[in-house]
Amino acid sequence: MALVQIENVSKIYQTGEVEVAALSDINLAIEKSAFVSFVGPSGSGKTTMLNLIGCLDKPSSGRILVNGKQVDLFSRKKKAAFRGEVIGFIFQSFNLFPVLTAYENIEYPLIMIKNEPAQKRAEMVMDVLESVGMLDQKDKFPDQLSGGQKQRVAVARALVTRPKLVMADEPTANLDKASSLNIIRLMRELKDKFSTTFIFSTHDPRIMDEAEITYTLVDGKLS
Ligand code: ADP
Ligand code: MG
Repeated sequence: MALVQIENVSKIYQTGEVEVAALSDINLAIEKSAFVSFVGPSGSGKTTMLNLIGCLDKPSSGRILVNGKQVDLFSRKKKAAFRGEVIGFIFQSFNLFPVLTAYENIEYPLIMIKNEPAQKRAEMVMDVLESVGMLDQKDKFPDQLSGGQKQRVAVARALVTRPKLVMADEPTANLDKASSLNIIRLMRELKDKFSTTFIFSTHDPRIMDEAEITYTLVDGKLS
């Protein structure tokens, strides 16, 4: 069974009198350990798509199955618990806590979501720090790191809970070309190492070719 299954999914936003069809009748399936990108111009529905798969929003119609569960039926509370258990997130603006070190930022979800004992937490944090090549920088604060290094920390934070799925909405939008390629290639490497599925979005032609599977959105439709 596919890790993500999208069946006849549409999303319509209602703002006052106006309806915007952000996604129209989408069908697709994403297998375990896939490396997938959603590409398309601004406003084509990429963020809406990732928010639906990431259980941050629900469709107007259609079904979404993630890890065998029909998540569009979940309550807000159940969605939040499911995200903590199954999904990691990487953000365009990194979203690190400025008052925490790289190490502490990565440890945070283990305290908040997983409640792992201290010794186990330390092993898990050190393991992902090494995987993203940031062991030497572990005691630095975010403002002492470059953009590319911050995103490495964010990648480690997304992976430390060992999620089945990592979602990244425009993860390279605030990075230069070299760092963008490095981050995407690091994600691909970690996908193999941790058998985690990665789904990212981009409108950056420089990194579009790095995905193994690409879905192109135009006006909320797959093309
Ligand atoms: P992308 O990420 O590809 O730029 P989005 O998924 O953000 O595209 O947006 C798709 C369409 O849905 C756009 O027309 C956008 O204006 C509209 N949209 C997105 N979010 C909302 C919202 N919360 N309320 C109303 N319209 C929205
Ligand atoms: Mg977007």
